[in-house]
Amino acid sequence: MWRQWWRGWQARREESAVGRRPIPDDLWKRTLVRYPFLQRKDPQHAVHLRRLTSLFLDRKEFSATGELRLGDAMVVAIAAQAVLPILHLGLQRYDGFVGIVVHPDAVSARREWADDDGVVHEYDEELSGEAMPGGPVMLSWTDVRVAGRTAAQGYNVVIHEFAHVLDMADGVADGVPLLLADLPLAEWRATLQGEFQRFAQRVEAEETTVLDAYGAQSEEEFFAVASESFFVNPAGMQNEHPALYGMLVRFYRQDPAKDRLPQRRNAV
Ligand SMILES: [Zn+2]
Repeated sequence: MWRQWWRGWQARREESAVGRRPIPDDLWKRTLVRYPFLQRKDPQHAVHLRRLTSLFLDRKEFSATGELRLGDAMVVAIAAQAVLPILHLGLQRYDGFVGIVVHPDAVSARREWADDDGVVHEYDEELSGEAMPGGPVMLSWTDVRVAGRTAAQGYNVVIHEFAHVLDMADGVADGVPLLLADLPLAEWRATLQGEFQRFAQRVEAEETTVLDAYGAQSEEEFFAVASESFFVNPAGMQNEHPALYGMLVRFYRQDPAKDRLPQRRNAV
């Protein structure tokens, strides 16, 4: 009886959260057209995605820097892409942070590295997004805005950063997110490491790859880059990395290559 009461209470609480952050029909349709990779053959998918987008908007806090002013279309675009990966995992996967900071453009960050002689070198890194334990998640609007067009190259900054959030949920950024019982840790590690090593060798040999070469940096970047492609260029990724694709189907509980709508070119 208590369980039933709890479920009923949760359902009512979610209903009022969706009611607080409704997404108008025309704005939702424009979002799906602008970011076609959000769509699937099953019409229930968009209903579920829209509802989770409202819940995300209710729980998270957006802020902008510089001259940028955040409009409804912008926050809905970010929220819808952010919840796509956790559509069948649940929004509680993002409970570890609240803030999302949107910059007008990529941000330059000063980095340091020490060479073999211990000499420290400084350089500037251009960041289109960044996720850190406990948040906030930082995103460049210039990069989010073009996500419909850059999908064919497997590029998506929102999914990349939120894959890092999933990875860091256990406090460590190592390419291993929280796994459910049907996906053993040993299997995850073996597949990810094997695919990563082969990928890094191909990048080293300057081969053309479906996944962004940035993934050769480390296993955590490889997981983030593979997740981007999995959602926005799934057929290409499945073709080049069938074992990794299959493992991500089991992790995300989605099969975008099989279920997505045929893509139109030149989406607005
Ligand atoms: Zn990254």
